[in-house]
Amino acid sequence: MNRRDFLKILAMGVIRWGITPDAVAKNMEIMSRTPSQNLDDHIRDYLNKMENFNEYHAEDVQIDNAIYKVFTSTVKRLRRLQQYAGHGNFQILSFEDGLNIARKYSRIGEFSKAEIRFMEMIFYAEAERYGFLGQKPLNKITDRIKTKEAMKVPHTGNYLYRGLPLETYEKIKQLVGDEVVLTSGIRGIMKQFLLFLNKADKNHGNLSLASRSLAPPGYSFHGNGDFDVGQAGFGAANFTKRFTHTDVYKKLSELGYLKLRYPQKNLLGVRFEPWHIKVRDNI
Ligand SMILES: [Zn+2]
Repeated sequence: MNRRDFLKILAMGVIRWGITPDAVAKNMEIMSRTPSQNLDDHIRDYLNKMENFNEYHAEDVQIDNAIYKVFTSTVKRLRRLQQYAGHGNFQILSFEDGLNIARKYSRIGEFSKAEIRFMEMIFYAEAERYGFLGQKPLNKITDRIKTKEAMKVPHTGNYLYRGLPLETYEKIKQLVGDEVVLTSGIRGIMKQFLLFLNKADKNHGNLSLASRSLAPPGYSFHGNGDFDVGQAGFGAANFTKRFTHTDVYKKLSELGYLKLRYPQKNLLGVRFEPWHIKVRDNI
């Protein structure tokens, strides 16, 4: 397959699968850097990877042995920090506040210079290197959630931004009823660090595998208004394909609320996420 045919397929994807022109451009860039690669194979490999997002793939990028100890000590410290700060507060905790709390409480312990350097390295690394091609709404590691603009949603342990995100959630509640639950709202830098690094830690430091399910810190739109919903009583299954068999999913699709950020066969390097509500159309 030549470049022109590949472009045609991508353009078709924009129409059929809701792939953003942005993702097409990024994919084209990658293609032009690897001219010798067989594009048929590339597409097949890519779709296979997204379907089997939780498995190891040959080109996956892993944490280097030289920094593996620092990586695991960082994850453990982040876990203690979450435990100490409480799940609710931790959702919106900034990087700097997190460092300060850790320094103050010996049960958590101060983040070492090497751990801070490691986190900065993860934050400022081009996630494209792992295969993640989404946008980066938070650009600085010190970016904070403005607490005045956020509201804790009762009985969920999650926060939402006032304005469009909260209004969207309330509208969904009104239309779908009590069976819809908010499963994840605003997530600050520290929370995203923990989620992403936890996933990598459970998979021998595989950053590519982690990024197929969880955006690296800075790249998550949970810092910018998006949120996840689920079916009440469905637990962790709300974050699996099985969610598409629930009443909540069916109702939300019928109502046109599932403008997904990561649709099926997206080209952003992220698995299909039918539970993730994209609040704003233009970002
Ligand atoms: Zn989400």
